[in-house]
Amino acid sequence: MKQMKALVHRMDLSARLHKGLGSTYLSQYLEMQKKSLEKILAGGSYIASTFYMPSELFKLLDIEVIYIERLTGFTAANQLLTNIQFYRSLNNLPECGCSYQIAFDSLLSNKHIPWPSEIIALNYACDDGWIYGSYASAKYSVPFHFVEVNRDTQALAVDLKDLYNKLRSKYIEKNSIEKIVEISNSTMAVKEEIDALRLENPGIINSMDAFRIFTLYNDLGDLQTFDILNDLKNKIHEGLQSYQKPSGAKILWLGVIPLYHNRIITDLEERYVCRVVYEDLFDFTNRYLSVDGFFNDLASRIESSVFFSLQNRLDAIQRYNKTIEIDGIIHFSQRNCKFLPSMVPILRREMEKANIPFVEVSGDVIESQYFNIEGFWNVMDVFFEGIYGGRKLVY
Ligand code: SF4
Repeated sequence: MKQMKALVHRMDLSARLHKGLGSTYLSQYLEMQKKSLEKILAGGSYIASTFYMPSELFKLLDIEVIYIERLTGFTAANQLLTNIQFYRSLNNLPECGCSYQIAFDSLLSNKHIPWPSEIIALNYACDDGWIYGSYASAKYSVPFHFVEVNRDTQALAVDLKDLYNKLRSKYIEKNSIEKIVEISNSTMAVKEEIDALRLENPGIINSMDAFRIFTLYNDLGDLQTFDILNDLKNKIHEGLQSYQKPSGAKILWLGVIPLYHNRIITDLEERYVCRVVYEDLFDFTNRYLSVDGFFNDLASRIESSVFFSLQNRLDAIQRYNKTIEIDGIIHFSQRNCKFLPSMVPILRREMEKANIPFVEVSGDVIESQYFNIEGFWNVMDVFFEGIYGGRKLVY
């Protein structure tokens, strides 16, 4: 468990650092993640789940949850993953498989984290998650639950309810649906306010902070999430007094960032005197839940997510652009992702029509050897030269 202990230690250092710097929402977020991981490392049972499984469902029960993409993301961002490619080859894992799941399997297989009590996966956002869940279930002899997302909201709601009924026969019920709905809705109201403030005041927060906490989506229904976002909202209000509109290009970033390059946004902003003002990953779509329609509303929220369809993505970009007036879009495509990169040709065509410069960069967000940083800057040089009307920038 050496790697996870190192991760806990770094989370602790980072939480203290952010607290000292006044970014209390970041320190609270890291503390929250650290405590959950510590419980698991101390032997507490947990469920491993893919990203879009609604967290409110888990918050009804007394069980920790590891979201596979979040844990591997944290581990990659702290540069604690080693030899994923070697692990992949050694274990005959598919070369075309997404590195999030391969990295998670390396953590389980090498006993850096205990094995989960169950694995849950949706077939949204991608098939890699559930294919891996099924593989890991056989490998580690743990139950696997598959939830099918097939554009039938009612059927998805029934599946979510069935899953919840199975889980509650095994785990203690901790909260009522009424309580979780109340917490989730209060949190969503704060998030909605944050989004409105960010759209009206582009660049009011450092976009890197949004990348740091976007996985709070996996903590909706938790009172701590409300506190963290409320703190961020208050910080934004404080920042309004000294806010100035960005003087350079306003950039929308689509997709993840290469997680091991945690200065990439800052470097980009310094190099091109631009501001990354918004990112689609931190868009929770601000859907509210009801007690009577709890499972239906969770199903609808999954379907409302910005990545659910090309149309959802286009609508979201249009919404951001309406108030921000975006000067350029950077789309980061994850290597081996069969889902988001396939939308790029149409996104590019639509952005051409809207006269918004668009560029796609590719790499692996987990495996650093599959991201060419020099190539990235070369592409960015050309992209920003185009944005600034052919004017060559002084780097
Ligand atoms: S990056 Fe793509 S393939 Fe990987 S988990 Fe996300 S949606 Fe699935």
